Amino acid sequence: FKVPVAVNEPVKTYAPGSPEREAVLAEYAKMYKSTVDVPLYINGKHIKTNNTRTMSPPHDHKHVVGTYHLAEKKHVEEAIETSLAARQAWADLPWEHRAGIFLKAAELIAGPYRAKINAATMIAQSKTIHQAEIDSACELIDFLRFNVQFMTEIFNDQPASTSDAWNRIEYRPLEGFTYAVTPFNFTAIAGNLPSCMALMGNVVIWKPSNHQIYSAKVIMDVFEEAGVPAGVINVVFGDPAMITETVMASPDFSGLHYTGSTSVFQNLWKQIGNNIANYKTYPRIVGETGGKDFIVAHKTADAKQVATAIVRGAFEFQGQKCSAASRAYISKSIWADVKKYVIEDLKTITLGSPEDMSNFMTAVIHEASFDKLASYIDKAKNDKNATIISGGNYDKSKGYFIEPTVIETTDPKYSTMCTELFGPVITVYVYDDKDYSATLQLVDGTSEYALTGAIIAKDRYAIDEATKVLQNAAGNFYINDKPTGAVVGQQPFGGARASGTNDKAGSAQNLLRWISPRMIKETF
Ligand code: GLU
Repeated sequence: FKVPVAVNEPVKTYAPGSPEREAVLAEYAKMYKSTVDVPLYINGKHIKTNNTRTMSPPHDHKHVVGTYHLAEKKHVEEAIETSLAARQAWADLPWEHRAGIFLKAAELIAGPYRAKINAATMIAQSKTIHQAEIDSACELIDFLRFNVQFMTEIFNDQPASTSDAWNRIEYRPLEGFTYAVTPFNFTAIAGNLPSCMALMGNVVIWKPSNHQIYSAKVIMDVFEEAGVPAGVINVVFGDPAMITETVMASPDFSGLHYTGSTSVFQNLWKQIGNNIANYKTYPRIVGETGGKDFIVAHKTADAKQVATAIVRGAFEFQGQKCSAASRAYISKSIWADVKKYVIEDLKTITLGSPEDMSNFMTAVIHEASFDKLASYIDKAKNDKNATIISGGNYDKSKGYFIEPTVIETTDPKYSTMCTELFGPVITVYVYDDKDYSATLQLVDGTSEYALTGAIIAKDRYAIDEATKVLQNAAGNFYINDKPTGAVVGQQPFGGARASGTNDKAGSAQNLLRWISPRMIKETF
């Protein structure tokens, strides 16, 4: 099977005066002034309930941009029933049609919906235009295009046959319905999780984060326009516990595709375990969860390069990436220079609302996240073994703004070296040059997570040692780079240990989890 060769969508620059800049600013202003009313999407119908909640941008939390409707139990049950009713026709549809739908979705986002999905992401999740463009436009387009290519690679993989036995594998979807639970921090992930399961022939109940509703709505508008049939992807917003409980009580539940916190994932896994005897088939469980991602700088590293990796790795996207650098181990002989460059760089960083396109960072997602970050920053201000060397201020009067903050600690097990904060805070531990090997052991033993990490060094033996010692400490390991910014089709993404099941987003390996092959042998 040959489908269009997937190419990564080029990232637009949004330079002053460019048409894309004008378009997204106009869309942003329009959305900001009006109010949207976001329904549930069940069986191709837009359902309004008696229970609504308002939506506000994290950078301007008193301003209301719309409402969304919360599902009751009966809506979730209806979504399950209608997805099951739609299942057979969708599964029987030749795969070319499913490919056609999601390739069209990619082109709709690349063209007519680009400004809309970026503006919605800027408003709902407080992203700068550059962050939104990389996430909600390019990465989502890449997921849609590459998944079609990966699907055909899987379908082309057939066993050998002989003159008296014809062997073939039929790649069936899972029997039942699947469940996607998606996070606020990436519109691309929110779009990818339900769509890649649907692409493989599954029907889906999708529960987006309550902090990503606006961009989830645009994704559904795109999927509808692209021709996803009624009942194939059903969206329910609302109380996560009730929705999950209802989904998992169904004997037809057959797969969970999750991105979010470790504790919620463990809870979901336990619920599946408790219900295991009731399911018709063992559910597939795929999750990408937290991270406590590291940068290790060897004494041979270039100090400027280390500083850039810290600033970009920790503070792009407000540090709200599972992959964001949040602990750094820097060798003593280069630390003075690294520190100087980091402080210089951070002086140039601007923090504010996304409509001012010169801002590098905007607000964190909500008050709970703001309060958590502020309390760790305050603690560091008072602790003897910690010093704030840059940032440390915060203000939630208008939006949830936290300055990019660098903490230096003398204790490699200091709380912010171990706990995931999911925001713009990084902690640095400075080690003696002679302790490089011991420090690598420390990096491996400090966190239960294993998502991303980076080694920065010129010495090839030092790079090799880090690569070996940190073999299990990161599912995505970067040499002489920041530990963020995996690109679909280039660096499949995911980690093990407490970071997830490592079923690499943006790879054929992930899609394989959403099919249940039937082996057919025919003898002559
Ligand atoms: N794939 C993103 C990266 O490489 C991170 C995704 C996430 O935060 O879950 O930076």
